[in-house]
Amino acid sequence: MGEFELIRNYFAAAPCAQPGEGVALGIGDDCALLSVPAGEQLAVSTDTLVAGVHFPDACDPFLLGQRALGVSASDLAAMGAKPLAFTLALTLPEVSAAWLEAFARGLNLMAQGCSLRLIGGDTTRGPLSITVTVFGTVPAGMALTRAGARPGDLLCVGGALGDGGGALPLVLNQRSSEASTTQALLARYWSPQPQLALGQALRGNATSALDISDGLLADCGHIALASGVRLLIERDRIPMSDALLGFFGRDEGLNAALSGGDDYVLAFTLPPSRLDSLTSAGLPVSVIGQVVAGQGVVLLDDLGQDVTPLTRGYQHFRETR
Ligand code: ADP
Ligand code: MG
Repeated sequence: MGEFELIRNYFAAAPCAQPGEGVALGIGDDCALLSVPAGEQLAVSTDTLVAGVHFPDACDPFLLGQRALGVSASDLAAMGAKPLAFTLALTLPEVSAAWLEAFARGLNLMAQGCSLRLIGGDTTRGPLSITVTVFGTVPAGMALTRAGARPGDLLCVGGALGDGGGALPLVLNQRSSEASTTQALLARYWSPQPQLALGQALRGNATSALDISDGLLADCGHIALASGVRLLIERDRIPMSDALLGFFGRDEGLNAALSGGDDYVLAFTLPPSRLDSLTSAGLPVSVIGQVVAGQGVVLLDDLGQDVTPLTRGYQHFRETR
């Protein structure tokens, strides 16, 4: 199978690569053409996943296809952008029809779930690596950035934390657990669900936002730095799933939530007056702390004592405290 046949069979033919709103020209020419409505801005983000670095060499290509697009789409959610399209740059060690079929199926499933259309890419030979670039639209000036959090705002997250990082020992076959726990955690790792509806609902409400990919503490550190504020996190308000708590227990589960990464849940700051309308609209908003004047990120226990971890991964925060 040659390069062009491969592109045609597995990607140009995929349902997610068919014409749709906002795509004036898709796969097949030197460039794709996107139509951006007047008054809107294009939000663009790229992520690369390298075999052996970001995922195990031998993993299910269907799940890999889902995950590769899911983690990129999460960046659109974090900016409050509406998904438009994506490109796929694929480097493959060999051409395997079975691998490509399953990968394209997983990619397509996530693409359709996120309303993203495949508009082009590149196909090369080499060690397995996947680069996805996503494009979304957002009304001019309305994108959610990391800068803008203000003292008095609430610090919130869009759901349970720690499952993605907690799943890693299962992904790497280093630990096992009962089937239902394993399934729940692995699903959160392999099939991250970008919080696109929440991100768009936060436009005009949240003062800052990002998606948690490196763990709550590290990512809150980005908001604190960009906004020039101090974030106080109340340890006991951090939401965690039953699967995570059952698998790890409270202390280790909390570690996964604080520094595990791979959650792709939104973290954002919100003026208190905006909370009710979001929760009554059924959106997943969990308040975990608040924004105060100062800098850095501080974790507080139920007595208000500073229990910010001192381990290496958090060094970054200690410096800014
Ligand atoms: P060029 O040499 O002009 O860059 P290519 O031969 O790389 O074009 O690609 C031909 C067409 O197929 C282009 O429209 C490109 O965007 C698309 N394409 C290439 N690889 C992929 C892929 N993995 N997925 C989707 N589209 C792809
Ligand atoms: Mg090319």
